[in-house]
Parts: sequence; C-alpha cells; structure tokens
Amino acid sequence: MDTEIIKLEKESREGIFGRADLEKLIRAGEIIKKGGLVAFPTETVYGLGGNALDPEASKKIYEAKGRPSDNPLIVHIAEWDAVRKIAKEIPEDAEKLAESFLPGPLTMVLKKTDIVPAETTGGLDTVAVRLPSNRIARALIREAGGYVAAPSANISGRPSPTEVKYVIEDMMGRIPAIIDGGEGEIGLESTIIDMTISPPQVLRPGFITSEMLSGVLGRDIQIDSAVINADSKQPPRAPGMKYRHYAPRGELVIVEGNDDAVISKINELIAEDRRGGFKTGVMSCDENGNRYNADVIKLTGPFGDQKAAAHRLYSLLRSFDDEEVSRIYAESFSSDGFGAAIMNRLLKAAGHRVIRV
Ligand code: AMP
Ligand code: MG
Repeated sequence: MDTEIIKLEKESREGIFGRADLEKLIRAGEIIKKGGLVAFPTETVYGLGGNALDPEASKKIYEAKGRPSDNPLIVHIAEWDAVRKIAKEIPEDAEKLAESFLPGPLTMVLKKTDIVPAETTGGLDTVAVRLPSNRIARALIREAGGYVAAPSANISGRPSPTEVKYVIEDMMGRIPAIIDGGEGEIGLESTIIDMTISPPQVLRPGFITSEMLSGVLGRDIQIDSAVINADSKQPPRAPGMKYRHYAPRGELVIVEGNDDAVISKINELIAEDRRGGFKTGVMSCDENGNRYNADVIKLTGPFGDQKAAAHRLYSLLRSFDDEEVSRIYAESFSSDGFGAAIMNRLLKAAGHRVIRV
C-alpha cells in the first residue's frame, strides 16, 4: 500500500486553516469515512485513526499495529456533546471533568451504547472517550464523521510516536495516509479515568494528575494499584496495561538512588558492557550529563522538570534505537504529580528492571 504524507502549513498547526489545508483534511476525513486509516497528531502522541463505529475499521487498526484485539481503543470526538451518542448514563462527575479539562489529555471510560461495536471496545460494555485539544485532530475527527478510534500510531510494544518521523518508520506501507502536524506537546498518552465505578479510578496516569482530578471532584481519586506496582497479582483494570509497552530495542535498566551512587553504578555497568562489546547509552538530567562515560548520552531536561522529561521520553527511547545502542541506563524520576505517568511508562519500557543503589 502507498502511504501519502500529508503536510500542513505551520499556521494549521495552530488551528488557523488555509483553504489548501482544509481540503487536505477533508480528503483525510474521507479516507476514514470509507473505512481506511489515517495517522494524525494530537497534543499527547500521534494517533492511528479509523471510524470507531465501523467494526472493519477497528480490525484494520489492530492489524496495522500488530495489537492484540482484546486491547480496547479510545474513541476520539470533536466536541463533548458527541459523547451522548456513544455513551449512556453519563455521571455528573464526568460532566464536571469535561467542564474542567476538555478539550485536553483526559480519557473517560463510560458505559457504551449499542452503536459502538465490540471490535472497538475489545468486547467490553464500556467505551473510552477522549476529546483532544489539538485542532488538527479535531478538524480531522469532524471531517471523518465525528467518531474516530485511535490508539497510538506505533507498532504494538514500541514507544508511542511523538514525531512524524517515527510514525513513518512504523506505519509506512501499512496505511493510506499520515498527517504531519509537528511534535506532540505533552509527549505521553492521555490520563484514563474509569467513570463507571465509585469513586472513579485512574487506570492510566497522564498529564491530568489524580491530584487535579481529586480537586475537581472533591474526593480522593486513586490510581489503580495494579498499574503502579510491578509485583501486583491483580490484573490492571485497563486491559492494555498488562502488555509490555513503550520499549526500545536495546535493554533498558533504571538505576535509582542518590546522584553520586547512581552515577558511579551506571559508570561501572558501562565499563562492564564495554568489555562485552556493547554500545552503551544513558538517559540523564541535564546537570548530570557529562558525568557519564556512555557512548551515547541523552538529556531529559533540567532536573525536576517533568514536562520536559515527558515531552522527550519517547523520542529519546527511539533515538537510542536510531543509534543502535544495546545497553541503556536511565536515571529515575520522582513519582509526584505528572511524575507518576513518566515512571509508569519508563518502568514498562524497562520491563520493570530497576537497580536500587
Ligand atoms: P492507546 O490507544 O494505545 O493509548 O491505549 C488505549 C488504552 O485505553 C487501552 O490499552 C486500555 O488500557 C484503555 N482502555 C480503552 N478502552 C477502555 C475501556 N473501555 N475500559 C478500560 N480501559 C480502556
Ligand atoms: Mg499505545
């Protein structure tokens, strides 16, 4: 299959569409309406979109990603009112969250209506709904008929793409079109909250933190413990969270402890890897970068800057692959606030390999 790369003007990225770009988005919407797939930018990561109400389109998404079909898809809408066609018994709390955080990087799990096929929800009787803030995404969803199922636009198991070059790497030849809309600002997937239980529970941490959700709902909102604890015997309540995810090709290990101990441990491991003939890499905060002896050093941003680290995380993991690094060591992050999302993804990428020093 030939894959068309649809390039938009810079102004369109800010939501001011010229005529030529609007026509391109209408054409991309047509592809989805006819049952095809289009990769598109969002404020989190690139999505791989198909008509959420068409079971055949959902099947194509699973196929293109190589994703197990029991892993449900998130349905993207272009305005909040559209939720009423795909979800029923929408709780007051969901309205409150929509009011406070949407459009934005928050996905709500709600009871589904019959119009949403089982293929889209992995057989569940609930549907995950998201209203992105990215204007290109919303324009495309509108042109595509209003309901776009879209997981991240990567091959299953790989880091989610935050830049179009990584979408191209994974999806070229597999789908008819990719919209190039620049870099995702947030860099990690949306927060997912299950609104079908009381109190609601966070199934996947993200930019909208449980503290922010608690603040709006006026009660304590917790993160599903199976998501945070590697050794939890309980299966996570968001089906996809059980799979290994976000992983680079090289072996990634997180080293945790105070700065000096971490640096000397990592340098020791690097020396050993060198003797074994491995190319080594380190993911470090800006301040520590020049204290490592690795072949490749990637900086996550100033120490404690969670936004910078989240924004870069997936691209850095992918860039180790680009440079064929086979042993990667990462400094750990605090799990406060947005840090819960960073550590959740980093731990999964590392297959929960952590060395504490
Ligand atoms: P992705 O599309 O790659 O961002 O992953 C979507 C994730 O959303 C899935 O892996 C699930 O963990 C979660 N999800 C989607 N729909 C539901 C649902 N109905 N109930 C619980 N979790 C869901
Ligand atoms: Mg994904």
